[in-house]
Amino acid sequence: MPAGRRRRRPHSDDPGRSPGLRREPAADDPDSREVVVTVLLVAEDDEDIAALLLRMFRKTTFTVSRAVDGVDALRAIRESPPDVLLTDIGMPRMDGWALIHEVRADERSAEIPIAVISGQLHPGDPRAAEYGVCALLTKPCPNEQVLNAIEQLAALGRHPHSVATIACRGLHLIPA
Ligand SMILES: [Zn+2]
Repeated sequence: MPAGRRRRRPHSDDPGRSPGLRREPAADDPDSREVVVTVLLVAEDDEDIAALLLRMFRKTTFTVSRAVDGVDALRAIRESPPDVLLTDIGMPRMDGWALIHEVRADERSAEIPIAVISGQLHPGDPRAAEYGVCALLTKPCPNEQVLNAIEQLAALGRHPHSVATIACRGLHLIPA
């Protein structure tokens, strides 16, 4: 046994001590268990339709807020990105297409699932795919179909919308 020699491991060489690799103990903490609260933003300028939509979603576990037009919606999204966006197309100041374009162009919001609800579109409108719309609902749309679409999008979560992506191709819901 070599006397007087001791192995030394400087802390700085210990990979487990790297400050960037610290793990939070949250996984074992029962209080941190998944509580799924889905935040839905509804962009709708029509007061009556907005009221109907909000009333419908308030009976669910969704946390819902409303924007009165595209400008208002974009401000809300930049402040705090929702989990799902449900937007009308015909709105003052900024319409739904311009809103979707802005949302998809910003990396902080690019992958948010987006559903469109509109009376001006036909189900096969090519702009839905071009702009990266995940679900297209045509007014009037039965409540259960709106709910079903939003629930599917919430379950799907954020996902990319590049041209090569087919992640949400199956979700272009067309009401009967
Ligand atoms: Zn999508």
